[in-house]
Amino acid sequence: MEKKNIWEFYTNEQLAEIETFTKKYRDFLDQGKTERECVDVTVNMIEAAGYRELPKLVAAGAELKAGDKVYNVLMNKMIIMFIIGEDKLSKGMNILGSHIDSPRLDVKQNPLYEEEGLAYLDTHYYGGVKKYQWVTIPLAIHGVMVKKDGTCVEINIGEEDNDPVFFISDLLPHLAAEQMEKKANKFIEGEALDIIVGNKPILIKKEETDQADKKDEPIKEAVKKGILEILKQSYDVEEEDFISAELEVVPAGRAREAGFDRSMILAYGQDDRVCSFAGLVAMLEAENLKRTACLIFADKEEIGSVGATGMHSRFFENTVAELMNLTGDYSELNLRRVLASSCMLSTDVGAAYDPFYKSSFEKRNAAMLSGGVIYKKFTGARGKSGSNDANAEYLGYIRKMMEEFNIRFQTAEIGKVDVGGGGTIAYILANYGMNVIDSGVAVMNMHAPWEATSKADIYEAKRAYSAFLTGLGL
Ligand code: MN
Ligand code: MN
Repeated sequence: MEKKNIWEFYTNEQLAEIETFTKKYRDFLDQGKTERECVDVTVNMIEAAGYRELPKLVAAGAELKAGDKVYNVLMNKMIIMFIIGEDKLSKGMNILGSHIDSPRLDVKQNPLYEEEGLAYLDTHYYGGVKKYQWVTIPLAIHGVMVKKDGTCVEINIGEEDNDPVFFISDLLPHLAAEQMEKKANKFIEGEALDIIVGNKPILIKKEETDQADKKDEPIKEAVKKGILEILKQSYDVEEEDFISAELEVVPAGRAREAGFDRSMILAYGQDDRVCSFAGLVAMLEAENLKRTACLIFADKEEIGSVGATGMHSRFFENTVAELMNLTGDYSELNLRRVLASSCMLSTDVGAAYDPFYKSSFEKRNAAMLSGGVIYKKFTGARGKSGSNDANAEYLGYIRKMMEEFNIRFQTAEIGKVDVGGGGTIAYILANYGMNVIDSGVAVMNMHAPWEATSKADIYEAKRAYSAFLTGLGL
């Protein structure tokens, strides 16, 4: 089976549509560089499209009917959306599920310190990162600091043209002979990923010092004190407020078009907000559905889908139960039936074949950039360990649908069987006994601060997800 570059198949009209669509995608990435921000931008978009919040409907004892649009948010980091179909819910749903967390550096709980006139924030990296990629690039800080009185202060600094940025230092090559001998995983150690946040000592006027004899003594940690003063003035927060903060350090800057031909997107966090966006647009465009459609944006995938907002939590199941209750279809048995008879696309990215690293891929079963939306029967490592191995019958159902809607797709694995592997949320939903397959967009230099995708693949993923939502299940 030959793989083709799908750009050659498009009409001028479609090419124009791809440009409009991927411009919106870049805006989506820029507005949502963390899971919290991504939930915010998503809620804004879907509320404008008539989606209503589930807890409010539950409180009002609302009755849901075909065509109604509902969403539920957990801790501002996970969101699930539904469009009620004409069929009874117990016949199952068509589910698209992606994740909205991305590898990054999280600020620790006691992070601020000063060393030799430099102020630092100590970080703990999140997800699978090649640590050496994060040094010497402009970084931004996004997140929240929650004060003792419950006030939540939103922080977003480093993205605007006149914002300051932050950085992690690296040793100059002139002195790096010894460092250069180290293996890449030791080259930059995790504890060396602290970001530099200041270098200017606070100025305290002499008259502010009441003890006359101390006037000429240098102020201890004056740079750190200066930073705390700025934080106080800008955000009204204290050093202790770092204890209850979630601050994420991400590459600063916007999503960009890449290549002379502008065929690609280079941006932070495309794993997995690229599939999230494709799914979101598919949901926004969907109408007159037979089966109920569901879109999940999960958090914590990059660290094992753990925690309340990770896919392993009961949030999804509980939300479906509440939804069924409002359609008058709820019973414990019906809930089991809905989950077991649903179909899911676990929409997560795949590794794009890289000609510079041929030896890590098996070309015939690798995803090509601009090769179309990917279907991955199995992920996992070595002997398919940890894989959701999709059912052949389900793949038959998918193939028929892709053909009907003339969607360009490719099948792929992440790399050579013995080389490594990866996981997605697929296996977690498969626990309910439903049909699940991984489907997504190819990403080059995945998990790097700047990841690359093909505009054509993103467009094809959206078309595939739109088609999937019309399916009748099997
Ligand atoms: Mn992913
Ligand atoms: Mn990932």
